[in-house]
Amino acid sequence: MRLTTRTNLAARILMTCASNPDRLLRTAEIAEMCNCSTNHAAHVVQRLQAEGYVTTLRGRAGGIRLAHPVEQVSIGAVFRLFEREIPFAECFDAENNGCPLVGACRLRSYIQRALEAFYHELDMVTLDDLVRGNCGLQALLAMQPIPDHPCAGPPA
Ligand code: SF4
Repeated sequence: MRLTTRTNLAARILMTCASNPDRLLRTAEIAEMCNCSTNHAAHVVQRLQAEGYVTTLRGRAGGIRLAHPVEQVSIGAVFRLFEREIPFAECFDAENNGCPLVGACRLRSYIQRALEAFYHELDMVTLDDLVRGNCGLQALLAMQPIPDHPCAGPPA
């Protein structure tokens, strides 16, 4: 089992936004932080925006930021959104299924149950769980120090 790059990138982008709550992020900055092409980042940002996860401000000083508090962003919902486009097995795509076993296959229902368990675990995780108190992540993703942030350390 392997996540699509888009799903993983969506999670990275949301974590980057969450680690920079006081500023708008440009797509090129996000791409650099997430180690992907600007084009690829733009594609995922566009989808996140269309689904209401981020808001975009256009123009020279524009960029994106989270549309909701981190506590309200379900990682399970994000994964479902991006993963549902690609069927896990051939028989999960009714229109293009070519597997001859589908009428009598027990494996299919076990896979379905395993997937539901996978998403159930992620449904209990929020973006807040990924970033709150995660000073290592903050050090990697914060583009400028955030005053009074718990990870900022004592004043110099
Ligand atoms: S073998 Fe079973 S689980 Fe695999 S594609 Fe065919 S019907 Fe689906």
